[in-house]
Amino acid sequence: MPITPTEKIWMDGELVDWDKATIHVLSHGLHYGTGAFEGIRAYPTSSGPAVFRLREHMVRLFNSCKIIMIDIPFSVEELINATVEVVRVNDHPDGCYVRPLVYLGYGEMGVNPLPAPVNVAIATWPWGAYLGENAVKNGARLKISSWRRHDPNAMPTAAKATGMYLNSGLAKIEALKSGYDEAIMLGPEGQVSEGTGENIFIVRDGVLVTPPSSEAGALPGVTQDSIVKIARDLGYEVRFEAMVRTDLYLADEAFMTGTAVEIVPIQSVDDRLVNDGRPGPITNIVRNTFNSAVRGELSQYESWLTRV
Ligand code: PMP
Repeated sequence: MPITPTEKIWMDGELVDWDKATIHVLSHGLHYGTGAFEGIRAYPTSSGPAVFRLREHMVRLFNSCKIIMIDIPFSVEELINATVEVVRVNDHPDGCYVRPLVYLGYGEMGVNPLPAPVNVAIATWPWGAYLGENAVKNGARLKISSWRRHDPNAMPTAAKATGMYLNSGLAKIEALKSGYDEAIMLGPEGQVSEGTGENIFIVRDGVLVTPPSSEAGALPGVTQDSIVKIARDLGYEVRFEAMVRTDLYLADEAFMTGTAVEIVPIQSVDDRLVNDGRPGPITNIVRNTFNSAVRGELSQYESWLTRV
């Protein structure tokens, strides 16, 4: 999706003009995928934009970097404040997408990442429906990818590390070239893992089920966690349980969660309609509640919002 430029990008403690936010071509991260990032959204509320679950995203960024042994030269608090600052200066009354990136910079070559300098950037830009408005309304058409999700002992699936996304990109290319909206990857043991940038839920007999990240090798999603809490608050049972592809084919309802995608119903998987292919009632209820929570319309979820 094309990026709409904004005013400033925060780089290593300073606000830099968008066009000047450049790095050297010999930066380590560009060659070896040595970095970690976050995807966060800010939403419009009645009292201005608010960043959704900012602290949880920043903690995940630090966890990703802990896994890949990158020491971030800032604290969680400093990056939270920097995010608020950049969202504010770029003036996003309708909300925006926020992209914090930690990457190994210029000065060292060779596979050993340890001596390379660590840089941090935070950018914001307006971003609409990640899979398009049609998928939001009518559901997404998914294909099980021939690319497996990383084995957690080959690549650390709990880290949102930049190099990991070659795997997601391959699955995405295959799905798009085959005429689908998105891919679902299976884990190394053949169980359903996740989309290329989304977690998966199914609804069966009124119960919501999502694959446990530890077994399925999926990224622990902040949106997934929000939906688990919202669904339980609404009185639904939610289970973390392994599933195979036919559980998707035979689900009563299915949907994807993620910061970029938000909540998108799944219309079909491998050309099998999920139920009648239309967004299901439980999907609609949790999605509407989520959409109200992020916009500050539900006081019980106020603690998830950081006002800008
Ligand atoms: N899985 C992968 C591989 C992702 O890239 C993302 C997006 N960060 C997700 C799941 C969903 O995570 P979240 O809800 O925290 O955005």
